[in-house]
Amino acid sequence: MRGQWSLLLGPARLCLRLLLLLGSRRRCPPLLRGLVQRWRYGKVCLRSLFYNSFGGSDTAVDAAFEPIYWLVDNMIRWCGVGRNDIATVSICKKCIYPKPARTHHCSICNRCVLKMDHHCPWLNNCVGHYNHRYFFSFCFFMTLGCVYCSYGSWDLFREAYAAIETYHQTPPPTFSFRERVTHKSLVYLWFLCSSVALALGALTIWHAVLISRGETSIERHINRKERRRLQAKGRVFRNHYNYGCLDNWKLFLGVDTGRHWLTRVLLPSSHLPHGNGMSWDPPPWVTAHSASVMAV
Ligand SMILES: [Zn+2]
Ligand SMILES: [Zn+2]
Repeated sequence: MRGQWSLLLGPARLCLRLLLLLGSRRRCPPLLRGLVQRWRYGKVCLRSLFYNSFGGSDTAVDAAFEPIYWLVDNMIRWCGVGRNDIATVSICKKCIYPKPARTHHCSICNRCVLKMDHHCPWLNNCVGHYNHRYFFSFCFFMTLGCVYCSYGSWDLFREAYAAIETYHQTPPPTFSFRERVTHKSLVYLWFLCSSVALALGALTIWHAVLISRGETSIERHINRKERRRLQAKGRVFRNHYNYGCLDNWKLFLGVDTGRHWLTRVLLPSSHLPHGNGMSWDPPPWVTAHSASVMAV
């Protein structure tokens, strides 16, 4: 009996592989392509029910509800709500809505944020596609301002600090109330500026490293996990949004020509970032440059 089954299974597998091969070709009937896509999606769903390297009971529940998400997603599309050509990578489990690449759900803002970096508690807002540059510029120029202030008031700070140290000497110094307030304010100013320069400087450097790598704070965790997972399999991870350090910066700051370093970086500018945050095609100059590097 088992021999008969294996005789049937062999040709069936061959047929299935042939169908999958035909379905992945560009010039294939839409019906076949649709069937192949459904088959692959079903396979992923079924596998995710039994195994998921990211583990956890939440993942198991999410995987179990995957067919419902699929149903809701298709119903939304059939009803014509949110009909568009945006390539989505998954469905947000909270919004129950298709989610483009690099988009993440912020539990504090309670909505999906395009190219989400992090939720900033100081700004009480999410840092994402449209305000990432403003956030970085704010951190960078604020750090520069604090360093300038700390460095410029170093002599004043030393004098004020030395004066405060004499307050409890006998006989007591003859400083007026106004002079004492000035001394304490100067010391307070210097400590505040120096601490902000250190803390914000560290944050700015960290974000500069991430921007140079072409990843966001969230993607850093995801990519690190993925890098380790692929490394264990002897494969190499490649970040598709990393176009090289200089191009990453030019893309992030919106520098298309040499003049933009002055008008868009050093001077305040309200230009919009490249792309709409939903599809991630780099500008032509990045593609051309990357292609030439690949050719070399
Ligand atoms: Zn969401
Ligand atoms: Zn948020």
